[in-house]
Amino acid sequence: MTLETPIEYVKGIGPERAKLIKNVLAISTVEDLLHFYPIRYIDKNKVYKVGNLQESNLEIQLKGKITNVQEIHNGKVKRLTAKFNDDTGSMDLVWFQYSKWLKEQLPVNREVFIFGKINAFNNQFSMPHPEIELDEKKEKDNRLRPIYPSSEKLTKRGLNQKFFQVILRNICKEIPNLIQENLPEYMIKSMNFLSRQQTYLNIHFPENLSHFEKADFRLKFEESFFFQLGFGLKKAHHKTKSQGNPFPIIGDYFTGFYENHLPFELTNAQKRVLKEIRLDMKKPIQMNRLLQGDVGSGKTMVALLTMLIALDNGFQSCLMAPTEILAQQHYNGIKDLLKDTEIKVNILTGSVKASARKIIHEELENGELTILVGTHAVLEDKVKFKNLGLAIIDEQHRFGVAQRAKLWAKNKIPPHILVMTATPIPRTLAMSFYSDLDVSVIDEMPVGRKPIITAHRREKDRTFVYNFCRDEIRKGRQIYFVYPLIEESETLDYKNLMEGLEHVMQSFSDYNVAMLHGKMKPDEKDVAMNYFASGKAQIMVATTVIEVGVNVPNASVMVIESAERFGLSQLHQLRGRVGRGAEQSYCILMTSDKLSKESRTRIKTMTETNDGFKISEVDMQLRGPGDILGTQQSGVVDFKRLDLVNDAAIIKNTKNMVEKILETDPLLSRPEHQIIKNYYLQYYKGKNKWSKIS
Ligand code: ADP
Ligand code: MG
Repeated sequence: MTLETPIEYVKGIGPERAKLIKNVLAISTVEDLLHFYPIRYIDKNKVYKVGNLQESNLEIQLKGKITNVQEIHNGKVKRLTAKFNDDTGSMDLVWFQYSKWLKEQLPVNREVFIFGKINAFNNQFSMPHPEIELDEKKEKDNRLRPIYPSSEKLTKRGLNQKFFQVILRNICKEIPNLIQENLPEYMIKSMNFLSRQQTYLNIHFPENLSHFEKADFRLKFEESFFFQLGFGLKKAHHKTKSQGNPFPIIGDYFTGFYENHLPFELTNAQKRVLKEIRLDMKKPIQMNRLLQGDVGSGKTMVALLTMLIALDNGFQSCLMAPTEILAQQHYNGIKDLLKDTEIKVNILTGSVKASARKIIHEELENGELTILVGTHAVLEDKVKFKNLGLAIIDEQHRFGVAQRAKLWAKNKIPPHILVMTATPIPRTLAMSFYSDLDVSVIDEMPVGRKPIITAHRREKDRTFVYNFCRDEIRKGRQIYFVYPLIEESETLDYKNLMEGLEHVMQSFSDYNVAMLHGKMKPDEKDVAMNYFASGKAQIMVATTVIEVGVNVPNASVMVIESAERFGLSQLHQLRGRVGRGAEQSYCILMTSDKLSKESRTRIKTMTETNDGFKISEVDMQLRGPGDILGTQQSGVVDFKRLDLVNDAAIIKNTKNMVEKILETDPLLSRPEHQIIKNYYLQYYKGKNKWSKIS
């Protein structure tokens, strides 16, 4: 038997059952079975007493004698009953289905152990279908007994707990041949680990609770360690091997802009981040950097200044956004900032006409066009650059992995990559998911920003809320009303939005109202956006299309309707649409009276903090890491035992350990590290789905 042996060759399984197990549990090799971890354990050393039973639904073991076996006929239905007695009392045993054989073989009046789930009815306990073992034949194994994740489909066909326990017990006997150590002695000692063989044995059949905990800890550690090691090696490799265009020059484009056209003083965080980026791009190695910064922290300016450095070194840049609106806004903003310079900027999206597109294509190829803003349209093969030196991706999580890879191919020497995300992600997730990127964080808001005040209001408060909005408009401010977008029902969304619009128009009949939703054509969206952004409309009624990036600094109130229907990160993104100017801003979360526990947590979190990182932690606790990354990438954090919410300490610890090891032994060439290297090469390399990212 090896780890690769197909399970049909395991004793007791066979081809039929193997097929079933494969279909239901996706287990096909001995290794898969070893990684088929119990969900809990039962202590079969513990013997309960009939007289002390309290709770039903427990799986327990008792010791005593079986008496009074009786067959009971009730019309067509037959069942078998018996009494079970110990020195403290008596209870019923019941079989709803049984064979003649079972009836005759029941060990009446002998010392037995029975095991099963107990039921309580009128304070009278009974146990259906007990497992029975003669005292004299009882297995002398003191280990805890595993309970495996199961399904009715399997149990019905006889693949019950007992079946899996027997199979795993047999496989565990082979552990000495199957499992080799993969960590160096010094680590096992310093971390006080069980050996790897003991780990697998104790995860299936723990000697006791503390052994289970140790096994569990080591499995989590290994998962995190080799995962981090993979990235560490990749990063080290990248730093030495992956060519990039060095940008050593800070020239007139950058300095001229910085000195003459910068509309505000950069925050210290912006300056620090810019320095980190400059240091990266100086080197002849491709930059791969993640720029994290909450909404409104000023990432766009950092992006622009970075592009100017590329330009100073004779290279083109592109900035990619996930939506047309956002691309347009970046374009408008950048064009405005560069209006007094010679620098040529253009925008390429799906809605750019063929004739204009042709010009853009030409100017990119001859190098006349130096900064291109756009959507996915930028990725098309037809779009060729003369010398693309820098690609910036905004709101990264919406772009798929494959799309990012396309950017790389746009230049012979791949462009530097700066990924910007406004969705702060939890630390543990960042440490895992982005471990091959260097991370810069803008953790400071531009001066003068007042934290947004967030309140939770209900239908009965609506008049009050509207009056408050009116006061704000009178002060010269603008208001957003946002309605949820329920993907299953676009017609319903539309209805929601239209009703909302009508209601708002009636209630604010003396003001102008703009409307924005996803079904509108790009030019219609533009008209609506401009109507609001120019201040002609005081109110914008919208669906979540405005979630990403829209920037109207004069807007000071965000009213989110049916806020209980939004996820946390969405609420946070929406809230970020206000508070972008110097005025005090407000976010009002309108909900119905009845809220689920989860909705209440979300609303409460929003009213308590403006800190995107804190919010993302709560979000991960509520939804799990997979959902946070989005379906496209969730498979990437499919750890078997490691839990990104609860195992933060392990993740941090392993990351530090890996960094320390690679710092002194980057190629893992020291003798004591051969064991890690070999294991990594054999079991992890190539299996690592992440290796294809960025
Ligand atoms: P985000 O990080 O969400 O993309 P933006 O780049 O859109 O944020 O910046 C939000 C607003 O803050 C913009 O109006 C921008 O002009 C302004 N801003 C950016 N940096 C500063 C700064 N250092 N001082 C003052 N305002 C700034
Ligand atoms: Mg932005």
